[in-house]
Formats: sequence, structure tokens, C-alpha cells
Amino acid sequence: MNRKSKATMRELISDAKPSPSQQKKSRIPSGIHDGVLTDRKGQTYTLSAQGITAEDALRFVNLGAQVVFDECGCGGTCGFVYATEDDVPALGKKKPVMKTHKGLTGELSVWQSEQGEKVLLATGPVEWI
Ligand SMILES: [Zn+2]
Repeated sequence: MNRKSKATMRELISDAKPSPSQQKKSRIPSGIHDGVLTDRKGQTYTLSAQGITAEDALRFVNLGAQVVFDECGCGGTCGFVYATEDDVPALGKKKPVMKTHKGLTGELSVWQSEQGEKVLLATGPVEWI
């Protein structure tokens, strides 16, 4: 009976092994590094269109793009802000307006993953009105 429970313990340990290493692998900091945008889930995106219009941005939002804000324009060094699933429908009904603040002008860009998922990135002062 004792041997049996030991074997079970060993099985549990070996079964548990793969998951911690997988978690480590996906812990890439979110942000833009060498032209690749990494989101908080570890999904990577490359730039698809830069300096898009407010109308185009709204089209992407309404098609289900993830909306990410980089308010200071540093490329995510101090942390991206992610719109929640609840925020996105509300943003889709608004209009992004690019502003200029302290020499930084707001810009909208679209990033795409290999699987075709899209991120709308609002860099700098972009106000949704
Ligand atoms: Zn920043």
C-alpha cells in the first residue's frame, strides 16, 4: 500500500513538470522590441499599417482588434495599457482624435500576428471622444 502511494506521487511530479517551463517561455515582457510587438499573453505582432486614419482605426476596433494604448510613446517600456473586452465596444462607438502634447503627436497603427489577429496601437496623446 505504501509503495503504491509512492508511485502515484512520482507520477504526479512527472506530470506536473512540463507546465512550469512552458510558463517561463511565455514570460516575454509586453512592448515593442526590434519591431515586434508582444502583448501580455506573449503573442507577437508585426507592424501592418502606421499612421492610419481614425476611420480605419474604428473599422479595426469594430472587427475585434485588441486595443492597446502607449500613452507616453515609449514602446511599452513603462507598460502598455490594454482595453478590456468591455471597453472595446464603447471605443468602437467613439472617435480617436490625435493630439499633440509636449512635442509628442498621437498616432494610430495596426499590428498583425501570423494567425491574422490584429492589434490597434494608440501611441502618444490619442483622445477618444
Ligand atoms: Zn512609456
